[in-house]
This record gives sequence, structure tokens and C-alpha cells, in this order.
Amino acid sequence: MSVIVQKFGGTSVANAEKIRGAARRAIEARRQGHQVVVVVSARGHKTDELVELAAEITSRPRPREMDMLLSTGEQESVALMAMAVHELGEEAISLTGAQIGVLTDTTHTKARIVSISTQRMRDLLNAGNIVIAAGFQGVDSDFNITTLGRGGSDTTATALAAALNAELCEIYTDVEGVFTTDPRIVSSARKVDRISYDEMLELASLGAGVMHSRSIEFAKKYRVHLRVRPSFSDGPGTLIAPEPDQSSSIVTGVAFVRNEALVRLIGLPDQPGVMSHLFTALSFAKIPVDMVVQNVAREGIANVSFTVAEEDLPGALQVAETAAEKLGAIEVTHSTGLSKVSVVGHGMLTHTGVAARMFQVLAARGINIQVVTTSEIKISVLIARSQCNDAVNAVHDGFELHRPTASMPEIGVAAKERPLVVGNGGRTALAEDIASQLAGMESIVVSDVYVDTDQSRVTISNLPDDPGIAEEVFTAIAEGGVLVDMIVQNAARDGRATISFTVPFEDVDRSLLLLREVLERYDGSSVTHDRHIGKLCVVGIGLRSHTDVGSRLFRTLADNQINVEMINTSEIKLCVVISAEHAAKALTLSRAEFGLP
Ligand code: ADP
Ligand code: ASP
Ligand code: MG
Repeated sequence: MSVIVQKFGGTSVANAEKIRGAARRAIEARRQGHQVVVVVSARGHKTDELVELAAEITSRPRPREMDMLLSTGEQESVALMAMAVHELGEEAISLTGAQIGVLTDTTHTKARIVSISTQRMRDLLNAGNIVIAAGFQGVDSDFNITTLGRGGSDTTATALAAALNAELCEIYTDVEGVFTTDPRIVSSARKVDRISYDEMLELASLGAGVMHSRSIEFAKKYRVHLRVRPSFSDGPGTLIAPEPDQSSSIVTGVAFVRNEALVRLIGLPDQPGVMSHLFTALSFAKIPVDMVVQNVAREGIANVSFTVAEEDLPGALQVAETAAEKLGAIEVTHSTGLSKVSVVGHGMLTHTGVAARMFQVLAARGINIQVVTTSEIKISVLIARSQCNDAVNAVHDGFELHRPTASMPEIGVAAKERPLVVGNGGRTALAEDIASQLAGMESIVVSDVYVDTDQSRVTISNLPDDPGIAEEVFTAIAEGGVLVDMIVQNAARDGRATISFTVPFEDVDRSLLLLREVLERYDGSSVTHDRHIGKLCVVGIGLRSHTDVGSRLFRTLADNQINVEMINTSEIKLCVVISAEHAAKALTLSRAEFGLP
């Protein structure tokens, strides 16, 4: 008999009536002949209330006790849900994370799943029960209760679906499905029928709260069929599928993280090992780094900026200051009150002008961009928090995302297809990994490392830090039909900004020409370029949140005296620009580091 996993979020089990409604859905699936596992979250705002209650007692609750406390929310829900099923005439049994056998590591409040034992659930299902499993929680090897991080019930659901080889995992929530952006912020946001794992992974990791990003890691890794559905109606929701919808728009969605903080290390020596040192220290402190920007050095001096969640700022500053001292940086500065806004879409692989369009709409609203980072399917900008909602609305409108198949207005030339370099292993290696058994479930999968030597780097220095500069630069490039790949704009210093980007090797001369007119308008700005670069990329799942992938890559390069010129990170890829002469060697070394043949 096929297994279906149904997950109900907090609002979907907020009161007795809603619990009964959820129980009816589970029973319906059972009566259609499926074995049913229900994963439930804490009711309504229960988890928030528990967090607040703890804060009334102490400002520094120990993580172990926090987990003990927060896990009670889900325990209450499973019991009530089981009673509701009984009342409706079917057999059901509730289980905590420990009773299911969700074994995690020991990182309290953000534990990762190590393994799930399926025997008990199978026996109960075979005996005719609906199994009601507590989301968000597990147990470490010493039987301490752990939790998976806020929103973690989604991850429990997809992990159970993977472990039980379920036919389908349904995520019931308080919206019709996955929207082009948070419908609470943009009233014209549109529900999408289908979205790819990679796009959803990026959107979730860039702040779209509708799914816990680690749940998409599971879905992708174990090819779980995932559907996000409304609990309040019979709408079909959104299918999260391996491949993007061919008819879909260039941009799929807009995501944002409201509370970001920026840390800058200024005046670092431009030599191998700087990033390695910093990343290792941050990874050791378990601080996930968000945007990372290292710009091409001038006169032997480099500046590195990175962002972290605002709550991680004190820890990040401590790490940065120790690192700065060790590395001989001039100073460490930081800013708060920032937000990150990102656009995500597969269309960026083949269409020019997406970045230009984003910068145009922000400039038109007078929103200054402080930092820019990109990956192949996303562009992120750091802006003032006071402008976050405005920026999200502007970008959503600018790409006309309310329209079913939005094309890009004005610019958005379909570029000559850029060959999508995924290296040899790419998808196939990943598919093979899926077949591997479910030990170390949440450990990362690095599926490939490849190098692309067909690109050149262009760097513009000494630009004024005003709204509209990035727009002018990238509009000029896009109008010339050049497909820009990586973009990095570092936080401005003394009011002057630096932007670096990469373009196909054969387009570099044209790009320099296209830039000439723009730069004539800005006194003191200058352009340099490197015709031959190597872009080295590590491909996998969950790379940004597993900070050690970065530190391992940087260490490998530093140990071999290979300098990193530019960086970009995403959940699925981590790329660095190095000089072309080191490309082959860097490839061999990093493949070895990640255990690839
Ligand atoms: P649950 O309690 O069911 O897990 P969440 O509150 O975690 O529900 O997630 C649903 C919420 O996510 C929605 O109410 C919506 O405000 C928010 N959200 C953010 N981004 C998106 C998006 N792109 N699509 C849909 N909902 C989104
Ligand atoms: N109850 C937990 C939270 O509020 C887990 C979840 O709802 O997914 O974060
Ligand atoms: Mg949620």
C-alpha cells in the first residue's frame, strides 16, 4: 500500500475545529486506500508563546532546556490530533520524535537529522493506524530532546516521506500554495502551479517563509514528490518538482530577509588564506554566513564583507575581530538595519538584463543598493530595512510577476543560449547519491566540482555610491546583448563603490566598449579586466547553510597558494573566481577534497 505524508502547520491546527478538519483529510486519504502519516506543528502561535515565556525567565536560556520546552508544543498537537481521528472512527496513534526514532546531532535548537528508523511506523501503519508524528523534534544519541530550527516541521515531513518512500508529501498551510512572493507583503502576488526544487531551495533559503529550506534539501536529495496546499480549501496548491515549468517566466519569485547585519574587514592583505581563515572561524562558531563579497584587490589590499542574520551579529563580530587581528586587517566595521531582497528564476540562465531590470526598478524608487551578489539563478541586493517592503513591491511589479507568464518588459533580450556548464557528474552523480541509504540523512551532498575557463572578469572601481549606478552599468551591458554571470558589488567605503562581474570570454571587448560611455560620466572611475579567469564551482545541496563546504574549499585553495578574486554562494552552488593559470590544479585539488574521482 502506498504511503502519503500530510503535514499540518500551526494555523491549520490552531483550534479544535481546525484539528478536526485536518483529521478528516487524513481519514479521507486513509479511506482512499493509502497508509497515512500525519506530521503536525504546534498549534497557532504556541511556539512563539513558549519562546516569550522563556524570555521572561532568563535572557540566556540554555539551548537544551529551550528544546525541552519548545518540543511540548508539538506533543500537545499530536495527542489532540489522534483524539480527533478516534472520534471520527478511525485508528490513530501519536508519536514524539524520540518514539519515531528521529535521531539528530547534538546541536540544540538547530539540530540536523542523522537517521530515522522506520520499523515502528511501518508496524503501526500495517496494523491499520494513521500515524500522527510530532514535527520539528528529534532526539540525540544521549536521548536529549532536540529541535530542528523554526519552521522545522516541514523538514520532519519530507524526511519521513523520504524514509518511508512515500508516494506524496502534502504540506497543508494557510495560503493557496507557493506564491511569487509573500502575499502578506504584496497583494498582487500570484500562486504558482509548479516550481523546481532548485528555485524553491533558493527562495526558501533567501527568506520565503512558506517552506523550511532544509525540507527542500530532503525533497531534492531523495526525490520526494512535494505539494504545498491550502488547508482551508480544496485548491490543488503548488507542485515542487525536479524540473522548472517550461512555460514559466524568466523570474519565478521574490524573497526577502528583513533583519540582516553587515560586517566588513577592511584593508586585508591580498593573499591566499584570508577567506579560508575567516570561513573556518565562522564555521567553527556555527554562524551561517549569508552574502559574501570579496572584491578584487587594489594595490595589494582587499576588503571582505559578509552578512549574517542580525541575531548572529555579536558572535560574528567576535570572530571577525579575532580574524582581523590575526590577518593584519586595518579595521572591522559593521552596520545593522539592513534587509536582503532577492529575485530567483531559471530564466536568468539564458536571458540578459535581469540584473539590469532589478537595479532599474530599485533606482526608480530611490533605493540605494549597498551590496550585490548573484548565483546562476538568483540576484540578491542589500538595502536599508526601512525600504524593504517598498523594494519587494517594486521588484515584483517591475518583473510583472502578477501576470501568469510574465515576460520582461523593455529589456530582457533572449540571449544566445549560454551553455549550462554542470561538469561531468552533475545531475547523474546526484541521482546516484539518492540511491545511497538513509544514513547521515542531512549530511551534505557535494555532487560535483567543475571549472569554467570561458569567462572574463571586469571590475569597475571608484564609482559614486548612489542609487542608479548599478542600473546604468548593467543596462548598458544588457542592451549590448551580453549575458552577465557573476556580479559582486561590495559595500561602499568612503562613498565609493566597486563592482565586478564576469562575462563570456568572447564578449569582454564589447563589454568594455559598452561601459566606456557610462564611465565617462563618473569622474575618477576606472575599469580593469582579466581576460582569462577560472570559475571554480562546487555543486550540491544545502551548501550555504553548511558553512564547512566554504571553509574546506577556501582551505584547499589557500594551502596551495591560489588566491580567490570573487565569490558567490547559493544553496546549490559555491563558486570562486581564480586566475586561469591555476584552474586545472584547483579543480584536481578540490575534487580530491570532496572525495570526487
Ligand atoms: P505553517 O504554519 O503552515 O508552516 P508558515 O507561516 O510557516 O505556515 O508559512 C506560510 C506563510 O508563509 C504564509 O502565510 C505567507 O505569509 C508566508 N510566505 C512567505 N513567502 C511566501 C511565498 N513565496 N509563498 C507563499 N507564502 C509565503
Ligand atoms: N512549531 C515550530 C515553529 O513554530 C515548528 C514548525 O511550525 O514548523 O517554528
Ligand atoms: Mg512553516
